[in-house]
Amino acid sequence: MALTKAPSRKSYKIVLSLAVLILLLFILQGVFLAGKIPSIEIETALPAIGKQTPFRIKASELRRGLTFVKTEFIQGNTSVTLIEKTYSVSSQLFPWGFKTVTDTLTGTVGVGDMPELQEGSAVIRVTVGRASTWLLHPDPEIREISLPVRLRPPILQVTSTYMYVSQGGCELVTYRVGPTAERDGVQVGSWWFPGYPLPGGGEQDRFALFAVPHDMNTPDVLLIAVDDAANRAEKIFIDRFNRKSFKSDTLNIRDSFMAKVVPEILAQSPEIEDRGNPLDNYLAINRELRIKNAETIKALAQKSQPEFLWSKPFLMLPNSKVMATFGEKRTYRYEGRTIDHQTHLGYDFASTSKASIPSPNDGIVVFARFLGIYGNTVIIDHGCGLMSICGHLSSIAVKEGQRVSRGDSIGKTGSTGLAGGDHLHFSNLLQGLPVNPIEWSDAHWIEDRITRKLDEARGR
Ligand SMILES: [Zn+2]
Repeated sequence: MALTKAPSRKSYKIVLSLAVLILLLFILQGVFLAGKIPSIEIETALPAIGKQTPFRIKASELRRGLTFVKTEFIQGNTSVTLIEKTYSVSSQLFPWGFKTVTDTLTGTVGVGDMPELQEGSAVIRVTVGRASTWLLHPDPEIREISLPVRLRPPILQVTSTYMYVSQGGCELVTYRVGPTAERDGVQVGSWWFPGYPLPGGGEQDRFALFAVPHDMNTPDVLLIAVDDAANRAEKIFIDRFNRKSFKSDTLNIRDSFMAKVVPEILAQSPEIEDRGNPLDNYLAINRELRIKNAETIKALAQKSQPEFLWSKPFLMLPNSKVMATFGEKRTYRYEGRTIDHQTHLGYDFASTSKASIPSPNDGIVVFARFLGIYGNTVIIDHGCGLMSICGHLSSIAVKEGQRVSRGDSIGKTGSTGLAGGDHLHFSNLLQGLPVNPIEWSDAHWIEDRITRKLDEARGR
């Protein structure tokens, strides 16, 4: 019996001391287990404060959880609370209980939050509380960031006069912007035409080449300068807008034409699925592939050099006949019914078969391969967002990245892509937007609309 009694007394002691230990730990925890120093991150979407700067705050405390997060906007003696949020914290005795260990808060800060806000700098302060115990009441953690405050938009002055622009055409504007501008240029509907430094001009002298899309009937054209706090200066500067009525044309689509063009384009364009019959394939090419090709062309605008690479008027295909013009509205008919409508955004020139194509101007080849509806295509950058596109080539004689001079042979005409017969499809592009090439081949237009304006702005 003694043998069994002795261990039971011993185990009783063990259990008792364990219980005392747990109780002690429990009490110690209740006394000392305060919230840890929370982590705080403050991010703003803009590097300055103006009308509205979006911000994001991330606060975390893993042990006892968040108690409160307060965000204030402070300048001098003025302070405004932007966000205040409280949380239910876990109990000091049961810290594993319910708590919010991390939270992300978003909002905006700007002059609307503090009408007396002055230019200079201001502070975003974030205070995150820490859970207390019977004994410990730790101070909340504070994090601040200081940002410049800018309330006035950049100075913006138009320096050119006689601003005339045609539907589907280009124009150049010269202007001056203040040093706080971070982005400037011309917005035309959804198209953005960035500004460039005026060659030979002062530090604040800029120019922008812009264009009005062929389908814009009323001009939505603004000169814009924006600073890093999103303060925006805007100017309406168009003196005259010429509406254009473009030609209409009907194209009868024949089976023999589809049989010629569809297989080649499908084989070269993995982005288009085979619809199983020539007509549906033709329509997919004429609609979907046309849009995808326009996107590819637009993306190339990013590669444009920030200076003019050309100086003379653009060359058209010599000894040729114009078969189609820019902006032509085309109705496509098949077996007596209308199957599609599209706009022809270039000039078609027919010469002899496989005629040599001169480079329309000095520049750098940015594209030299098959491009959907345009077949074998060469796109040349002439700088400041201006490019030219030559399509339907039977052969390409240049490589991407190659510098070309006005008149150099870039290939031979053909009928690749959506072409019935041997011809050259030619257009100018501005920031990827097809524009009427007739302007760029006209020495008087270039002198009047481009060269004179740049010279006058330099002389001012
Ligand atoms: Zn064409």
